[in-house]
Amino acid sequence: MSPVPALRPDLRLGAGYHSPQVPAEVRLNTNESPFAPPDEFVRALADEMTRVAFHRYPDRGAVELRRGIAELHGVDPAQVFCANGSNEVLQCLLLAYGGPGRRSLLFEPTYTLHAHISRLTGTEVVAAPRDEHFAIEPAAALAVLAATRPSVTFVCSPNNPTGVAERAEVVAALLGGAPGLVVVDEAYGQFAQTSALELREPGGSPGGTDARGLVVVRTFSKTWAMASVRLGYAIADPEVVTACEEVVLPYHLSVPTQVAGVVALRFAAAMASRTGFIAAERDRLAGALRALAVDTWPSEANFILFRPRDVPAGVVWQRLLDRSVLVRDCSTWAGVEGCLRVTVGTPEENDRFASALTESLR
Ligand code: PMP
Repeated sequence: MSPVPALRPDLRLGAGYHSPQVPAEVRLNTNESPFAPPDEFVRALADEMTRVAFHRYPDRGAVELRRGIAELHGVDPAQVFCANGSNEVLQCLLLAYGGPGRRSLLFEPTYTLHAHISRLTGTEVVAAPRDEHFAIEPAAALAVLAATRPSVTFVCSPNNPTGVAERAEVVAALLGGAPGLVVVDEAYGQFAQTSALELREPGGSPGGTDARGLVVVRTFSKTWAMASVRLGYAIADPEVVTACEEVVLPYHLSVPTQVAGVVALRFAAAMASRTGFIAAERDRLAGALRALAVDTWPSEANFILFRPRDVPAGVVWQRLLDRSVLVRDCSTWAGVEGCLRVTVGTPEENDRFASALTESLR
């Protein structure tokens, strides 16, 4: 019997990329929607599923879904690429534009999968720091762009795990200086005041910056309350969409996924109202946190980063779990040492978190 071969030496796979799936009554660790989709959505989806030709491969072009998403954003379907969660969108972008001999640039602290998927695709990662408010400093960023010439520059806005949204001028400045794609990961975009999509609009880009290298990535996992479905998409130049289609596996997007997306789009207004509700809860939760012995940062997402002042983060995390409240331990991540991140839940969950945290900080 032949032995299992050695792992690719450049992978250096380690633990820490995945949030532990620990059982808890209040799960505020993965930034999902605290609410299930509306019952009418579930009924409509079940109805559509009775008409599926299960013995046939899915539509490779995901025509109906892309048309619906394009309509939602006022773009052409040729500018829409869909995949299994925004993570697969990011992977396709890196397969097409990263790879050996190429670099990706990201600004830490940020979403760890940007670096992880870069490495998986053999792309060298350049990590630049943010300023003390967790914002990208344009002049410093332009200097790094000029020195390292990345094929892909990642901006996460609002940024995970800090919650800070990037100003349109900053994204425009990066677009002006980047030699490759600028990928703005807006997994939490609907919770924020601004979107990089505005830069695509005629006259939307300050100084008339060419926005063809701009890719905005979104997901149905958060605001659309469909994390189980695994559906994400990019709005990009048609050339970028074609490149992603070249590298993705054939028939990657299953019929149930495509149908779920198409049906969800009929409930866009209901989803938008939930987003507003969660943003209001976030602000209420932020107020509760400000009254406690933690440092915290203004968030435009559906989560809040906080750093306990007097008790080590790991101890607080465990004490919360002892009270069946699960949050994300970011305390070992670069740039957010000693921090925890809480997802905004239902009002009841948020109250339970706030009282468990009050006890855990004693
Ligand atoms: N981008 C960011 C910033 C995220 O936080 C997440 C989810 N944790 C994703 C992308 C991936 O989301 P999904 O693959 O579920 O669309």
